Amino acid sequence: MGVNSKTKEKALSIPESADDYPYTSYARILKEKYGKRVYRVGVDGGFSCPNRPSGRSSPGCTYCDGFGALSTYQRDGEGVEERRNLPSRLEETERQIRRGIMFLQHRYKAEFFILYFQAFSGTFDTPENLKRLYDHGLSCHPFVELVVSTRPDCVDEEKAALLRSYKTAERDVWVELGLQSARDATLQRIRRGHNRRCFEKAFRLLKDHGLKTAVHLIFGLPGEDWKDIEYTIRYLRDLDPEGVKIHNLHIPAGTALAEEYLSGELSVPSLPRHLDYTLKALELLPREVVLLRLTCDTPDNRLVAPRGTWAKAFFYQQVLEEMKRRQTYQGRLAGQ
Ligand code: SF4
Repeated sequence: MGVNSKTKEKALSIPESADDYPYTSYARILKEKYGKRVYRVGVDGGFSCPNRPSGRSSPGCTYCDGFGALSTYQRDGEGVEERRNLPSRLEETERQIRRGIMFLQHRYKAEFFILYFQAFSGTFDTPENLKRLYDHGLSCHPFVELVVSTRPDCVDEEKAALLRSYKTAERDVWVELGLQSARDATLQRIRRGHNRRCFEKAFRLLKDHGLKTAVHLIFGLPGEDWKDIEYTIRYLRDLDPEGVKIHNLHIPAGTALAEEYLSGELSVPSLPRHLDYTLKALELLPREVVLLRLTCDTPDNRLVAPRGTWAKAFFYQQVLEEMKRRQTYQGRLAGQ
């Protein structure tokens, strides 16, 4: 099934003018679509990652600390063990869903939820196991959307078809797909274990199945500056993704990247520099591209760098103020 970008479904309403809001934020788009704020319930389905061949404790991407990007409120302790036994994974997934919903209801009075298979590679399993996990997760609550985060080398025809089967008139399905950089030399340096061609193949497959894709990028990777980031943004823009998730380079303790950093081999972008990268990237991205995130929020106690001054709310405020000061908006340079 092919999806032409001109005729693709526009389930998300995009602000008409830059005066409405200078960039297309995910939270705002969800609120417009569902009438209330919508919250993601991030769960760890007990997946591992093909880039960690001996399981979660083996080395993977140089910045990966073994939490596999799980939400802070879902972490039980110092690390998460992968569960190889399916019944225990189903049980644990349900426990996390119930805990996550309770937490979000209690803290934010949340009413609408998205089921988010967040940790590690959410399609790294047999299609049969994936179906059991997704089915079970979705049976725990009337979730308005399903989001699965994964790597390009864990996407194939059968898995894309399975994900598509969860799409209904009421329920959207998104896949968050890691690219980080469009430069193969950088992907090699950070030990991503896949190249750009692999990403593009997975991306096109998901698009052909009508799935919305949000691409993960990291700004400030080793050896990269604005011209490399610009190259990645221009490459991605041509692929026409529905969403982009931007992270600043963060260096968790205990990672290979932390060793590089502590030995003085690399620097980490400061807040003003990440702000500058972010604004320039937003100018190049069309208004239709939804920004799911603009910065990381790894807790300070797990970070070697950067530390302090990176509170998420503060950074988002800086983005708005700086866009106003520069009199700019998302898509200003999208035609160039
Ligand atoms: S793909 Fe994700 S889970 Fe796997 S090693 Fe890299 S960061 Fe860690």
